[in-house]
Amino acid sequence: MDFQASQHLTLEAKSLRRLEAFGRGDRSDCYAFAPQSEDDLLEIFDLARKSGKQIVLRGAGRSYGDASLGDEMIALTLENFSGIVDWDHDAQSVTAGGGCTLLELCRFGLQLGWWPPVVSGTSLTTLAGAVAMDIHGKNNFLFGTFCDHVIKIKIVQTNGTVKTIAPDSPEFQAIRAGFGLMAIVTEVTIKMKPVTSAFVGVTKLILKTWEQQFGTFNSLDNSYESTVSWISSFGNGSGIFEAANPSEKSEDDVIPYGPVDQNFSSSYGYYALRLMLSDFLLRQASNLRLMQAQRESKTSGRLDLYSFNFQLDKLNNWDKAYIPGYLVQFQSCIPVENAEDTFQRQFEMCTTSGFTPRLAVLKRHRPSTTLLPYLNDGFSLAMDLHCPPGKEQKMRILYEKLAESTLAGRGNFYLAKDFLLTEEQFKRSIPGDKLGFFRAWKHQLDPENLLNSKLNLRLKIAG
Ligand SMILES: Cc1cc2nc3c(=O)[nH]c(=O)nc-3n(C[C@H](O)[C@H](O)[C@H](O)COP(=O)(O)OP(=O)(O)OC[C@H]3O[C@@H](n4cnc5c(N)ncnc54)[C@H](O)[C@@H]3O)c2cc1C
Repeated sequence: MDFQASQHLTLEAKSLRRLEAFGRGDRSDCYAFAPQSEDDLLEIFDLARKSGKQIVLRGAGRSYGDASLGDEMIALTLENFSGIVDWDHDAQSVTAGGGCTLLELCRFGLQLGWWPPVVSGTSLTTLAGAVAMDIHGKNNFLFGTFCDHVIKIKIVQTNGTVKTIAPDSPEFQAIRAGFGLMAIVTEVTIKMKPVTSAFVGVTKLILKTWEQQFGTFNSLDNSYESTVSWISSFGNGSGIFEAANPSEKSEDDVIPYGPVDQNFSSSYGYYALRLMLSDFLLRQASNLRLMQAQRESKTSGRLDLYSFNFQLDKLNNWDKAYIPGYLVQFQSCIPVENAEDTFQRQFEMCTTSGFTPRLAVLKRHRPSTTLLPYLNDGFSLAMDLHCPPGKEQKMRILYEKLAESTLAGRGNFYLAKDFLLTEEQFKRSIPGDKLGFFRAWKHQLDPENLLNSKLNLRLKIAG
């Protein structure tokens, strides 16, 4: 993204940039800046005050919805605050800039025999974005969320205060999953996980029904560090379940470099993926994948950590296969006792409305300790839905129904994926006076209300 360097601090039309949600369902024209220093940040705050504009914080733009968008706001990215700043062998910790990506952190860590304890399904997420959404991975049920492993963060508040805070400070708890509305995270120190090799041992199982899916997850009793199931688009809960544990080092192991930048969008695979947006071809592809896996029945093998954790990153620009139209991902987390019924129903709702999920991922969770709850002792199902041109209203109707079914199942929404939830539905998902606490923290940390986003304007999270 072409952000203005801070020496041109003006709000001229020429500094306007069109920013998009990852799913392409929403966009904003913003005055875009890439500050080089903390002093630059203070200048941008002044510019916001003088111009009456608000500021939206933007990481790598990997949120599927409107979390890092804001019409005519000043968009501020920390791409100049990237890179590894320091590391501590004894503490097994790494300090990196807020604009550093998980990929950079993984590459650096592996050379020392470390891996981040929690990563998202894409390695392109920035550390500040990971804190602002408190991201989770396939090991959430055991390892919690990203911020459970953060030792300290450096922040810049809109009143100019610069400080470093640890998880035992109440402010930290407000900034974690604070949706970029509280303060700017400029640096993150994370305790890394030691690994004996850059590989995991993966066991794959073919499951045929929703009952088998939930039964398998429930029967594992934490015997694997990571679990995930890729639910087939057709077939009543059938899918490929994967469970992984760290692998021992082998003689000929070479440290992998991570996802390779293939030009996927001009490859045959990309066109196959585009074609698969037709139900007929998707059904054939799903069947083939299952048949192939069935032949292997229960298989075990080794995968490098990048390939296991960041499967989609290997297909550079895979998201473009959703053009024309856009990609909506619906992800909610439902307590154990309601998860199976709710997800089965939600999957059917999508199919009968003509939006068969192109990809659906089932994960096991434990409750998040964020100010506003987003994960609980349950499961989440993330469904990728293609909304072709002309079907926007139909998609909204479906989304509304999916959200209602999440509320009926006493579930929570993951706002990193959302841009269609209504304020009223969001409020109903938050128990007690948790929104009141969130708003009190917003008032304390950013009293002039300089930080905002389209997500916040839509859901009135901070009031
Ligand atoms: C293919 C794919 C797979 C994914 N898999 C997962 C997954 O497994 N688990 C998961 O939890 N998420 C997942 N995500 C979502 C993604 O990890 C989150 O949306 C993450 O927050 C994106 O980070 P980002 O750097 O792109 O930030 P953005 O998306 O640009 O912004 C995210 C939030 O961070 C705030 N922010 C940005 N910079 C700062 C800053 N310097 N200080 C304070 N706040 C800031 C923004 O205002 C916004 O609220 C996935 C996304 C994709 C595209």
